[in-house]
Amino acid sequence: MPTKRKEIYLDNNATTALAPEVLEAMLPFLKDRYGNPSSIHRFGGMMKKHVERAREQVAALLNASPEEIVFTGCGSESDNMALKGFCAVHGSGSRIITSTVEHPAVRTTSRHLKEKGMGLTEIGVGSDGMLSKEEFENAVIGNNTIVSFMWANNETGVIFPIHELAEFVKERGGTFHTDAVQAAGKMPIDLKKTPVDLLALSGHKLHAPKGVGALFIRKGTAIEPLIHGGHQEHGLRAGTENIASIVGLGVACEYARKHMDEENKRIKKLRDKLEEALLRTCPAAKLNGHKTARLPTTTNVSFESIEGEAILLHLDERGIAASSGSACTTGSLEPSHVMLAMGIPYTFAHSSIRFSLSRYTTDNEINAVIAAMPPIIKKLRSLSPFVENEKK
Ligand code: PLP
Repeated sequence: MPTKRKEIYLDNNATTALAPEVLEAMLPFLKDRYGNPSSIHRFGGMMKKHVERAREQVAALLNASPEEIVFTGCGSESDNMALKGFCAVHGSGSRIITSTVEHPAVRTTSRHLKEKGMGLTEIGVGSDGMLSKEEFENAVIGNNTIVSFMWANNETGVIFPIHELAEFVKERGGTFHTDAVQAAGKMPIDLKKTPVDLLALSGHKLHAPKGVGALFIRKGTAIEPLIHGGHQEHGLRAGTENIASIVGLGVACEYARKHMDEENKRIKKLRDKLEEALLRTCPAAKLNGHKTARLPTTTNVSFESIEGEAILLHLDERGIAASSGSACTTGSLEPSHVMLAMGIPYTFAHSSIRFSLSRYTTDNEINAVIAAMPPIIKKLRSLSPFVENEKK
């Protein structure tokens, strides 16, 4: 466990605490082990071995081959590398198909590529956040097409059927990328069975440090590098390796692989307990996202007609960290694009709160949140100009 804190941290989809075993593994590389893996002397050789060990650990989490893993600086870089790297190979005839609920790492990148002349189709989702199969099956896919669907959604935790979607794309000659930043380490992934070509993950979502990520590139998938320079990462990502963080990512992946099953059972129980209590004790509360096809760590609930930000501030006063879907754009609160894409009515979209749990979440913490929420909702609802008196 990390150092005991009084705060209750339920914002693990934003970032996670560094695991103690990860920190311990990293420390020597921030002290005496400072060699450059490209150097031929023994300091370099030893560093190279540690990088390769981490590559094996990341590959094992995905059931991939170590040669298929490229270390990057973050999940966003991995997503950029997949999309821009594909378009650089396929030129102006490239087509991108993605969904309306992607993280900005994919959404903004694909919109940027559209401005540069590539084709872009964004497939919609239903009110449960699940991809519209019919809309997708009507999309034209050829060998100039990259399809990029997230494995699990960061706001709702909704899991897309990536195996099925990737098979559909491969049968039509397209390339399949998945943003697995929220999924990796939280659900089983087997890339020997699931035919994705590219997969992005990020260290800081699975108890490794910030500033390190990885891109899985299946053997035979052609993409151009984002960063040119030295020969590091087989010429696909130049720059002297961030060894401490790469070692940390490796250890975090190994831990996740070994403990995922038992941890998920415990976390899901806590998540379900919290969710059930919120829906029961807070009037006009509604779950956002598919009930079952969801990460065990995540619940997203709306409390009609109350600003999500206001709930967050009240929770923060009590030392509870969560997150809301709304973002402050040009001085006004805009509901998240995910809630809007799901067609959630404005009064609910505005009031969505995401609680995301981790292996460090305890039963006592969940009990504290369950106790804190009803009075907060009652107070805010009594102040809300949008709620009719009888609903207060
Ligand atoms: N993709 C998803 C689904 C995410 O949730 C995030 C981070 O929140 C990213 C990509 C970006 O990852 P990073 O912060 O490592 O760039």
